[in-house]
Amino acid sequence: MTDKTNEQDVAFGFRQVGEDEKQGLVNEVFSKVAARYDQMNDLMSVGLHRLWKDDLVTMLNPPRGQATFEHLDVAGGTGDVAFRILRAGGPNVRVTVADISPEMVAEGKRRSEAEGLLGRCRFTVGNAESLAFPDRSFDGYTIAFGIRNVTHIDRALAEAYRVLKPGGRFLCLEFSQVDVPFLDKIYDAYSFTAIPAIGKVVTGDGQPYRYLVESIRTFPKQDDFETMIEDAGFARVSYRNLTGGVVAIHSGWRV
Ligand code: SAM
Repeated sequence: MTDKTNEQDVAFGFRQVGEDEKQGLVNEVFSKVAARYDQMNDLMSVGLHRLWKDDLVTMLNPPRGQATFEHLDVAGGTGDVAFRILRAGGPNVRVTVADISPEMVAEGKRRSEAEGLLGRCRFTVGNAESLAFPDRSFDGYTIAFGIRNVTHIDRALAEAYRVLKPGGRFLCLEFSQVDVPFLDKIYDAYSFTAIPAIGKVVTGDGQPYRYLVESIRTFPKQDDFETMIEDAGFARVSYRNLTGGVVAIHSGWRV
C-alpha cells in the first residue's frame, strides 16, 4: 500500500489533502452553509457562540468615546463579530471584514444593510494568508472560528502582524481542547453525532458540519497555538479558556 502522506499534505478535517487543494474544499463548505450559517451557529452551540463573541469584544474593548479605531475582522463571514464591535464602540469605530467566501460576504452585506450598519462596516473578499491592506493599517485584528480553516496558519499570523499598527491588538477566538474531565466525552459525543445530524435536518447536508467538527480536533492545542503566535512576533501572548476549553481566546500585541 502506498503512503499518500507527504510534506505537502495538510489536514482537511480527518483527511489529508494536498496543500493546494484544501482552501477550495473549505470554500465549498462555506458556500454551502452561507445562507443558514447564523441559524446553524445558534443551534449547534445552543446560543453559546453569542456569549463567546461578546467576551471577545469585551477583551478588545473598542473605544466608546470619539477616538477613531480601525478594526479588521478576518474570516468575518456574515459580520457577526463586526456588528458586535460596532455596537460596543463609539461613532468613530470602523470595521473592515475580510473573508475568502463571496457567499458569506454577500450574506454579511445583506445583514449590515438590514441592521443599519453598512456605513461603518466594509466587506471585502480576501485570503487571511495574503491580505490586501497596507502594513500597519489597523488598531485591532480579530479572527473568530476562522483560523483553523486556513491552510498555512503561520502565514495568516504573519499577515495579522504586518497589518496591525505597533501597539495593536490581535485576538483569536477558536474551538480548542476541553480541559474538564467527562465534559470532553460529552462534547465528543455531541459534536460527532448531533452536529452533523442537525446540519442535515436544517440544510439537507451533514457533510460540511462533519468537516467543521473534525477540523476542531486537528487544530493545535492552546499552548501550541500560543507558541505559534509568539513565533509570529507578537508580545505578551496569553489565552483564556471559555466553557471548560470548548473555545479559547488567544491574545497578543503587535510590537
Ligand atoms: N467569524 C465568523 C463567525 O464567527 O461567525 C465566521 C466564522 S466561519 C466558521 C469561518 C469563516 O472563515 C468562513 O466565512 C470562511 O469563508 C472563512 N475562511 C476560510 N478560510 C479563509 C481564509 N483563508 N481567509 C479568509 N477567510 C477564510
